[in-house]
Amino acid sequence: MKNNGNVIEKIVSLSKRRGFIFQSSEIYGGLNGCWDYGPMGVELLNNIKKEWWNSMTLRDDIEGLDASILMHPKVWEASGHVDNFTDPMIDCKQCKARFRVDLLGGMLNEKRKKKSVRALNENCNESELKSKIEKLLSENNEVNAFDIIIEDEQLSGLLLQELNCPQCGTKGSFTQARQFNLMFKTFIGPVEDSGSVVYLRPETAQGIFVNFLNVQNSTRQKLPFGIAQIGKAFRNEINTKNFLFRTREFEQMEMQFFVKPADDKKWYDNWKEQRMKWYTNLGMNLDNLRFQNHPENKLAHYAKEATDIEYNFPFGWGEIEGIHNRTDFDLRRHEEFSGKSLKYFDEEIKEKILPYIIETSAGASRSFMAFLTEAYSEEEVKGEQRIVLKLHKKIAPIKASILPLVNKDGMPEIAKKIEEDLRFKFKIFYDDKGAVGRRYRRQDEIGTPYAITIDTQTTEDQTVTVRERDSMEQIRISSDSLSAFLHEKLST
Ligand code: ATP
Repeated sequence: MKNNGNVIEKIVSLSKRRGFIFQSSEIYGGLNGCWDYGPMGVELLNNIKKEWWNSMTLRDDIEGLDASILMHPKVWEASGHVDNFTDPMIDCKQCKARFRVDLLGGMLNEKRKKKSVRALNENCNESELKSKIEKLLSENNEVNAFDIIIEDEQLSGLLLQELNCPQCGTKGSFTQARQFNLMFKTFIGPVEDSGSVVYLRPETAQGIFVNFLNVQNSTRQKLPFGIAQIGKAFRNEINTKNFLFRTREFEQMEMQFFVKPADDKKWYDNWKEQRMKWYTNLGMNLDNLRFQNHPENKLAHYAKEATDIEYNFPFGWGEIEGIHNRTDFDLRRHEEFSGKSLKYFDEEIKEKILPYIIETSAGASRSFMAFLTEAYSEEEVKGEQRIVLKLHKKIAPIKASILPLVNKDGMPEIAKKIEEDLRFKFKIFYDDKGAVGRRYRRQDEIGTPYAITIDTQTTEDQTVTVRERDSMEQIRISSDSLSAFLHEKLST
């Protein structure tokens, strides 16, 4: 399915049809970059978050946290977001399309970028520069002009006159490139002035950093230990695209692990391995996952070492999680800006130190999309197409369906009794509408691992059939043992 170019459209359509994802405010034409999770979607998302939460907090060296979305504006000055959380943007005046310049460019490395800028700029007046640019664009495809736009204002203006809009093809129709801060601003209190500006958090991490000592003091944790948090984050992305991949409101699952500075490499490698395993343990094929290490010249301002876990989406490889060695950057900056010490007393060396931080920052919404993509499959069964979501049992929204074969002959009564028995133990779905084959297909489409059918034989010997989603094999078991059966199957 992966190579099928339409697979995203198919997933979007299934998501709407079966209640996974709806467009936000759909009846008003939708709101760009925002999506709603429907009845199946919210179950799947909650299951992904629960698996992550359990993997992080059911151990003795990680504590949980739920910090507020709105934080003191100084937090974002200290973190560098006010100055650095920007993307370069240009608009086409002709077709009104808006682009992130860095995504249009071929991403030259810094050295080559600087060299190209220097070569263009050296000792020439404007008309010489113009002809140099024309020559560059016609001859030298190695240099990607979009890459050097943001480097130099004068060059940028001239280059933009020569470049074609990727959408409508018009030459020289771009506005000046400008840096655009991705943080959403709002106001606290009734007066909308600069003194009351606050931001919707663009990441959950800062809530963890500023609470480092609160958590450490209240739990008496010793290094190394971590703090985990799941929550909404907001980024005013210039271009939202690829369904849930790049949205303006999304959820993150972040864990910051505080270590002694000398142990940073050990823990960075350890978390890389643990995080990759988390995805494969939940059914992702290792062939569809890879690490993409950040080259030194592309490291974020806070990072000493960084890698992305990428998933092989139908539109190409895309980051689903970042793992960073953030050094003591964050704690040091918050000390500076708040004037409060965030040091930890190391009893071994009897000294106060600033720990280093290893961050694992996963997108709940992006993982959701990766799990959905991984699970989506189409098969031919007896000449008919079957769409099935082969979701791992642990994250499947519904664990079992209960299907009386017909709505008579005592079958609904038995089915209702089974439902009563299972309802509070597992997420189940009762369906008595239509032919049983169609009911199986409906459950396959939402990834329900087991279908329990009550038929004539059930009324005679209290056995039911249990159909397994992927193999479609059926076994007969006693209805009394259903709870134990599901319990065993779902926990292994
Ligand atoms: P990108 O380069 O794709 O914009 P990023 O490097 O800015 O991502 P991080 O700041 O490392 O992303 O955020 C950590 C995780 O949060 C990402 O791996 C991703 O899963 C998720 N994430 C970030 N931005 C978005 C978004 N706009 N929509 C959905 N998920 C996002």
